[in-house]
Amino acid sequence: MKIPRIKLHNKILLGLVLGVLFGIIFSVNPNKLEILYGGKSEQIENWSELHFYTYDSLLKSFSASKQLAIIKFSKSAIPVYKEKKLTVKITFPDNNISVLENLSEIRKVKTIGMIFKPVGDIFIRLLNMIAVPLVLASLIVGAASLSDLKHIAKIGGKTIGFYALTAAIAISAGLVSANLIEPGEFMPSDTKERLLSTFQEEARTSIDKNISLDIIDFLVNIVPKNPFAAIVNGDFLSIVFFSILLGVFLTQISPAKSKPFINFFEGLSETLILLVEKIMHIAPYAVFALIAATVAEFGFNILQSLILYTVTVIIGLLFITFIEYPFLLIIFTKISVKDFFKAQKQVLAVAFSTSSSAATLPVTMDICKRKLGVPNKIASFVLPLGTTINMDGTALYQAVAALFIAQVYGYDLNLVQQLTIVLTAALAAIGTSPVPGIGLIMLIIVLRSVGIPEEGIALIIGVDRLLDMCRTVPNVIADSLACVVIANSEGELGEIKPG
Ligand code: ASP
Repeated sequence: MKIPRIKLHNKILLGLVLGVLFGIIFSVNPNKLEILYGGKSEQIENWSELHFYTYDSLLKSFSASKQLAIIKFSKSAIPVYKEKKLTVKITFPDNNISVLENLSEIRKVKTIGMIFKPVGDIFIRLLNMIAVPLVLASLIVGAASLSDLKHIAKIGGKTIGFYALTAAIAISAGLVSANLIEPGEFMPSDTKERLLSTFQEEARTSIDKNISLDIIDFLVNIVPKNPFAAIVNGDFLSIVFFSILLGVFLTQISPAKSKPFINFFEGLSETLILLVEKIMHIAPYAVFALIAATVAEFGFNILQSLILYTVTVIIGLLFITFIEYPFLLIIFTKISVKDFFKAQKQVLAVAFSTSSSAATLPVTMDICKRKLGVPNKIASFVLPLGTTINMDGTALYQAVAALFIAQVYGYDLNLVQQLTIVLTAALAAIGTSPVPGIGLIMLIIVLRSVGIPEEGIALIIGVDRLLDMCRTVPNVIADSLACVVIANSEGELGEIKPG
């Protein structure tokens, strides 16, 4: 009997589904801890109390259900009390007591669900390895092939205009869903206290980064002092700026001199895309490994406390992805919604499992050119720009999170404050780097703009990993959408091959 060949995108989706199941079956036990002390290690389970001491003075006590809080406290306390040495005293329900001296780490007990994670990590590193040189090479070629300054300004204007439109709709959708559902109104005060105390250290680390969004500084910093440093640091906005300028002015010198240069970057870009196609063969296994590890490690207890907030964000994300984008697709192009999403399956799975628009960019670029009929010069220009500045999912999430935190703290935001959120969330999303978790840090700017306590991010950190995966999907789908819309408006959209 001949076994039917499964298409790559279906294999990847299968990896995703199996990863979820595997992660659930082998999830981390929330009542178990592994304690590393004095060169030894011990696993404890179902303890009734756990106390931290330094010499004879008690530092902090925790009850059994506080696995995460204990780990987080140990992470911050161990480096601080390094010299004085920490001891943990554990009491069990049968009154047995264990005293473990000279503590070096407390962690969750790993399960088989997390064992394959290195495969996923290699996959993300391979994609990230390609992202920076690809942005550089493709933007230089893209800008150079748009032939003249007027043409570049026209495409650039359309791209930024389209991104501004989708961002405005996304943030409004976030505000509407948070105002209608009011997820923060239903949070019991003991849940609020528990979340604040568990995640306060992590929140502090983000707040201490002291990110500000001074527009003038932001614009000044886009211009790299040293483009090579920008490339080394993966500073996407500066790389985009430098590459576009280089591409534009390549068209202004004699072809005899510019041609070898353009050929070099064209060759580089084509090679990188070919490499992506090869790397995608490990995607089903990598997606499986990444999703299994994330699900296995995910704190489902926290999800219960934040379920209404999580659902509010997800409803907003579903709305923009499956209602707004199809609507814009129908208005601006003749591509069928079904074909568009069918072509995007790989992009969707990679974005969801890596939580990184930058890591997904090489895949998006390949799919837009190969399956959606977008010519190289438009994909090369619109996609790197979109990956860097266009983050609808992140902007929506920031708007909902800001309103949620305000509701929990009992702040009533008026219309002007909500409009301030629209503006700052749009800017914060532009300033968000296309890598995991940065949307949460940039949220601090949105909170500051309307005077909501920054410490409030501790309330939502517990589900941020999950929401990061979800918000990265519209972040990248909107880039592909912009690509087909702009190619179509220029009369340059080729044949679509979604299969
Ligand atoms: N992970 C998101 C992205 O790469 C950014 C964020 O919202 O943290 O698109």
